[in-house]
Amino acid sequence: MNINQNYKNLNESYLFSTIAKKVNEFATANPDKEIIKLGIGDVTLPLCPAVIEAMHSAVDEMGKKETFKGYGPEQGYDFLKTSIRNYYQNRNVTLALDEIFISDGAKSDLGNILDLFDKDNTVLIPDPVYPVYVDTNIMANRKIFYINANEENDFLPVPDCEERCDLIYICSPNNPTGAVYNREQLSAWVDYANKNGAIILFDAAYESFISDENLPRSIYEIDGAKQCAIEFCSFSKTAGFTGTRCGYTVVPKELVFDNMSLNKMWLRRQTTKFNGVPYIVQKGAAAVFTDKGQKQIQENLNYYKQNAKVIADTLDRLNIKYTGGKNSPYIWLKCPNNLNSWDFFDLLLTKAGVVGTPGAGFGKNGEKYFRLTSFNTLEKTKEAMERFEKLFG
Ligand code: PLP
Repeated sequence: MNINQNYKNLNESYLFSTIAKKVNEFATANPDKEIIKLGIGDVTLPLCPAVIEAMHSAVDEMGKKETFKGYGPEQGYDFLKTSIRNYYQNRNVTLALDEIFISDGAKSDLGNILDLFDKDNTVLIPDPVYPVYVDTNIMANRKIFYINANEENDFLPVPDCEERCDLIYICSPNNPTGAVYNREQLSAWVDYANKNGAIILFDAAYESFISDENLPRSIYEIDGAKQCAIEFCSFSKTAGFTGTRCGYTVVPKELVFDNMSLNKMWLRRQTTKFNGVPYIVQKGAAAVFTDKGQKQIQENLNYYKQNAKVIADTLDRLNIKYTGGKNSPYIWLKCPNNLNSWDFFDLLLTKAGVVGTPGAGFGKNGEKYFRLTSFNTLEKTKEAMERFEKLFG
């Protein structure tokens, strides 16, 4: 029996366990100091009333013989796909229902999509970035090239790769940098992919945080994208579904390579290996797109954005460089005094009792950077940034 030896090549993810260990040690030694966590990568506000109402009513349906549902369509119910199609149509992106696939979240789809591609494909991944892109390709032993996201390019690299890359990951708004691509920059990627016969895997998990009307929220707002891009999206951060689990992936029918339709392959993959998202959850997700749901999730998004502004305003006053915070829940700041990200972490924890995430955990270009998030309460965020300002003012 041969096991997948590639798992040996995965880096142990020490990031969050090391953070937890350091925070626990500090808390034990300083029981009277209140620690404020601005490292949270999870939403904290509850599901909105429209979603809860829809889910309660779906539970009742499941309890009656006449309305009970067993297995649903693996690729999702039409009522949810129709809501998603209309959501895209509002931004002039026309999708067919069978180009939309409902899943239990973007993370699963980002990993599973690799079933469609040969192991010999090369991969292009920005550094720093959401670690799932790297690890899923290490598991399959694909050759990975990195493209630098750094201060020179405002953490938004555009194609400059000498090597031929087959799969290109783009995350916009980005985790961890909060940077968002504009149309021109995304067009450069789409043109590059089309010219090279490459596929863009576009992660739009944070699209709902974009408030600047000029910034694209979907890659399909860019001409030519349907010929080269798969888009992953999620209800996690948009509507608080991190624990409820629901997302969707768009695979356009234009994606045909070697006479094989990626849309048909993904359908085959999902119908073979996946049995669909619970009816109750899909009903909740559909409620996100109702007028009531949109208004309610916007209130939650605005709350997080208000926190982001508190952080950004403090950094502005202190003249500390950062990206994100305006169209993203993440703020990516340059560590003051040229500190390394872990030294900055220690300083902020011990002198201010504030926890964030060292940039080094997201790639080598994160070394002198630090991620703060807007998912704590307004009161705690204000208090944390007052302490921050006192320390660096
Ligand atoms: N993509 C990015 C960039 C993320 O940061 C996350 C979660 O933090 C995900 C995808 C995962 O989303 P989901 O909860 O839908 O699996």
